[in-house]
Amino acid sequence: MPMTDQLLQDKFGRVIRDLRISVTDKCNFRCFYCIPDEDIVWKRRQDLLTYEEIIQLAEIAVSLGVEKLRLTGGEPLLRKDIEFLIERLAKIAGVKDLALTTNADGLKDRAATLRAAGLTRLTISCDSLKPEVFKQITRRDSLQAVLDGIDATMTAGFAPPKINCVVIRGMNEDEVADFADFARTSGVAMRFIEYMPLDNAHQWDKSMMVSGREIIERIEARHKLVPLHKDNPSETALKFGFADGAKGEIGIIAPVTQAFCGACSRLRLTAEGNLRTCLFSMTDYNIRDRIRRGDSRDELAQFMIDTVLKKEEGHRINEPDFVQPPRTMVFIGG
Ligand code: SF4
Repeated sequence: MPMTDQLLQDKFGRVIRDLRISVTDKCNFRCFYCIPDEDIVWKRRQDLLTYEEIIQLAEIAVSLGVEKLRLTGGEPLLRKDIEFLIERLAKIAGVKDLALTTNADGLKDRAATLRAAGLTRLTISCDSLKPEVFKQITRRDSLQAVLDGIDATMTAGFAPPKINCVVIRGMNEDEVADFADFARTSGVAMRFIEYMPLDNAHQWDKSMMVSGREIIERIEARHKLVPLHKDNPSETALKFGFADGAKGEIGIIAPVTQAFCGACSRLRLTAEGNLRTCLFSMTDYNIRDRIRRGDSRDELAQFMIDTVLKKEEGHRINEPDFVQPPRTMVFIGG
């Protein structure tokens, strides 16, 4: 079968439609659950994929059925001239959605140029609306910069951004109803995420996780919610609107208590050029060195196809044999 007719499909019949591309491992925040505060061994520049290599791999992936590209990091806005990469990716025929996930530090001055470059959506990470708790989690005093970034996103003409909030017991579970108020006034789409065992200290414990069900209960103690329809089956969030018609949206991403692996359509590309078939995969598939040794387009495409055939059925967080992957989120890209 000609390469162009092939799809990235795993042995469970799931078709890959989303490629998450980490463009750097570097970050200017130090979220305690993601990155150690010091002694971080960053990747060497020459080990990172160049923009041309990222574009080549994205073109191949799109030719094999991928429709959505998401740029991640570390913090993608730290990578120089990312607007150039966005412009090139936006021009790839077949790309239906080009999104970026950011901690929004510095976004205030970049939202308009990102929009002009062709970015379609922004997702912003924000785990607290209290400056002291924000600082405790991120080890940065940057809450106001993040809020300014959220405003700038909408001023620049983007749809109201998704706000990713990792809910951790004893840190910010008391704020979920406040975030719901924030969604009602700003119109943003909240995405509350159950805390997953991907922390850099490998100290995750289920008792630190706040379940999606509890998050809904905490919000409904203040605002009644109504379920919303999923745009597509592989969407990770359970979505809700406010029963009183207020603007804003509530999304629950519950990988631990309500896993959504059965409809997973995601493949990841790390900053240094490894394909990852699952967030919790224990294996990396190096495609960078294949590009650099001169593999043809078809050989690279075949490598992607073969790699996806090895995609895990799902995470095994709730299984006795679960092993936390050595990579933390900053080196995967979310
Ligand atoms: S845990 Fe792995 S298989 Fe499950 S949804 Fe996430 S990436 Fe997909």
